Amino acid sequence: MLTHLECTRCGQRYPADRPQSVCPKDGGILYARYDLAAIKREFSSAQLTGRAPTMWRYDAILPAADPVSLGEGFTPMLPSCEFPNVFIKDEGLNPTGSFKARGLSACVTMARRFGLKKLAIPSAGNAAGALAAYAAAASLEAHIFMPKDVPAANRIECDYYGAHVTLVDGLISDCAKKVAELKTSDSWEKDGWFDVSTTKEPYRVEGKKTMGYEVAEQLGWRLPQAIIYPTGGGVGLLGMWKAFEEMEALRWVGSERPKMIVVQSAGCAPVVKAWEEGKASVEMWPNAATVAAGLRVPKPYGDYLILDILKKSRGIAVSATDEEILEATRHWAKTEGIFAAPEGAACLVAYRKLIATGFLKPEDTVVLFNTGSGLKYQDVLDANVARTFPERESKAPSPAQAASPKLASRHIGGIIGPY
Ligand SMILES: [Zn+2]
Repeated sequence: MLTHLECTRCGQRYPADRPQSVCPKDGGILYARYDLAAIKREFSSAQLTGRAPTMWRYDAILPAADPVSLGEGFTPMLPSCEFPNVFIKDEGLNPTGSFKARGLSACVTMARRFGLKKLAIPSAGNAAGALAAYAAAASLEAHIFMPKDVPAANRIECDYYGAHVTLVDGLISDCAKKVAELKTSDSWEKDGWFDVSTTKEPYRVEGKKTMGYEVAEQLGWRLPQAIIYPTGGGVGLLGMWKAFEEMEALRWVGSERPKMIVVQSAGCAPVVKAWEEGKASVEMWPNAATVAAGLRVPKPYGDYLILDILKKSRGIAVSATDEEILEATRHWAKTEGIFAAPEGAACLVAYRKLIATGFLKPEDTVVLFNTGSGLKYQDVLDANVARTFPERESKAPSPAQAASPKLASRHIGGIIGPY
């Protein structure tokens, strides 16, 4: 039922039967458009019952292609143990331990369908791992450009998945420059290369939009009053908003919309700054630095859409310091039993702040997105133990300090091992 692609800036339509990047006229992000009237006639939300618990249960509203799937999506919507009307959507349970699985499953599915061979991606970490896994499952080559200080799990998983990894001395924006350089080479098109950067191909948004469908389905086809979303590139925010519009056209939900709330790290908060200044686009954030690697995106390509969604949904953008994020990560683990990615735990910081200011009410149903598993940040969290547990600083060095940079022998429960 996919009919065409449409530019989100100028509305120009493009055919969906071949690989497309951004709008050639104005660089606008292209959205996949469907014959929603026909889908509405042929498929109702009731028909979802009994379907496989993956994001492909919504294949009626996804491009028709043989999916490259590792079981992504339909993650649990966990009621918070601490706040009665809060739900935590735990994306850490996806393949490769993060929400990136959804976008890359859809993206690699379409890349395989179009006969592409080599997929290039600049990544702050988790998208790299996800591309590497899905490319492996599809027998395609993944070429990954990521900052050399990404969490160790991201480097190691890419290696094991057989991806070609280039570690870049810089941020994701520097990695994007490397991919742009590669694109100018003669062999780019001839050898079946394609740039699958965030929002520079249309299908990662399609994968991520399934989070919006799941929020509605898991809450009994009603939307919450607010969604708090840790925003780096912002694809999930774009995707969920698109999903709400599609679902309204399908009559699966009404015209109500949640307040969309962006949380960023104080060490890299370009959307928060632009929002507070009333701007329609963001400026490059200088010297971005935060423990939440996925939020280290100095200038998201979809900035104009993110800010538009904040405005239309009467949402807000808030920041959280690394100390607040680390404390919230520990708090969630202890209180909820959820070992979250720091990016996800930032949602808790935002929720507390917005309750304190009265922007959110305790009776509001709010969904917080934990975008990944804390297990992928072990080195980062271990190295920052002292920032949330000052009393440990004066005692023995943290395991990370003991283990790195060089391999050290330690005794744990009788096991002697170099780590
Ligand atoms: Zn355009």
